[in-house]
This record gives sequence, C-alpha cells and structure tokens, in this order.
Amino acid sequence: MDNCIFCKIIKGEIPSYKVAETEEAYAFLDIGPLAYGHTLVLPKKHIANIFEADPKDLYPVLDLVQRIAALMKEKLPCDGVNILINNGEAAGQSVMHCHWHLIPRKAGDGYHFPPPGSLSPETAQKILKSLR
Ligand code: 5GP
Ligand code: ZN
Repeated sequence: MDNCIFCKIIKGEIPSYKVAETEEAYAFLDIGPLAYGHTLVLPKKHIANIFEADPKDLYPVLDLVQRIAALMKEKLPCDGVNILINNGEAAGQSVMHCHWHLIPRKAGDGYHFPPPGSLSPETAQKILKSLR
C-alpha cells in the first residue's frame, strides 16, 4: 500500500534495523522501544489488522514471531517476552499494518499492566452469551 510506513520499510524505501526476513514476514527494531530489544514482526503483505486478516497469511508471521522470541530469550538479557498486537485505534494501533510487538522482559523490570479486576459469575455468563 502506497502510503503505509511499514510497507515502505519492507520495500527498503524507509530505513530500518532489520532483525530478520522471510518470504512472507519481516522483523525490525521498534523506533520507540518499550524495552531493550523491542521488535516488530509483520506480514509483508499489507493487512490492516486481525479483523481483516486471512489466517493463512498470519501463520508464517507467527513462525517468525516464535523464532525471534526464542532468540531473544537466548541472546538478550531477557527472562520472558510479551507478545501483543494492537488491533484498531481504540486498542492503541497507530500504524494500520498488522504487527506483533515482541517486548523482552527482565525479572523485576517494573513494567506492569493495570491491576486485575474480579470476574463475577453474572458477568461471565453475559460475556459467554455474546461470544459463544
Ligand atoms: P502500534 O501503536 O501501531 O501498535 O505500534 C506502532 C509501533 O511502530 C510503535 O511502537 C512505534 O514506535 C513504531 N514505529 C512507528 N513508526 C516507525 C518507524 O518509522 N520505524 C520503526 N522502526 N518503528 C516505527
Ligand atoms: Zn502496509
């Protein structure tokens, strides 16, 4: 897609610190890292997000996600890895080319998600009625 910054990175029109590349997927360092080694992994094909993806186009990307996560654990100062996709603006997606964030984590690094809520049986039933 012409005006997509990640398509331009994949084509080499915008420079990036490439970590790895396969026929279907591309990985490079995030310019605004949340942690040392923060890497983005994405399909070469322009897919906006999970809502628009054919699962078949995602499988090879997941292969690379898994490979890089393993490499991070082996080669970086890293005890674990958060892997996430922001899907849609409300979920924090700012670049509309589907990408996995791989965020290396160290024990005691201080990052934390909001404190957990508490799931009541009534709420659980209501959600299941919607999703099942
Ligand atoms: P999102 O908010 O869409 O889930 O994530 C977009 C990510 O892309 C952000 O973490 C941001 O730092 C990164 N990013 C945006 N523009 C560029 C760029 O030109 N080069 C690189 N390497 N990363 C970028
Ligand atoms: Zn794109």
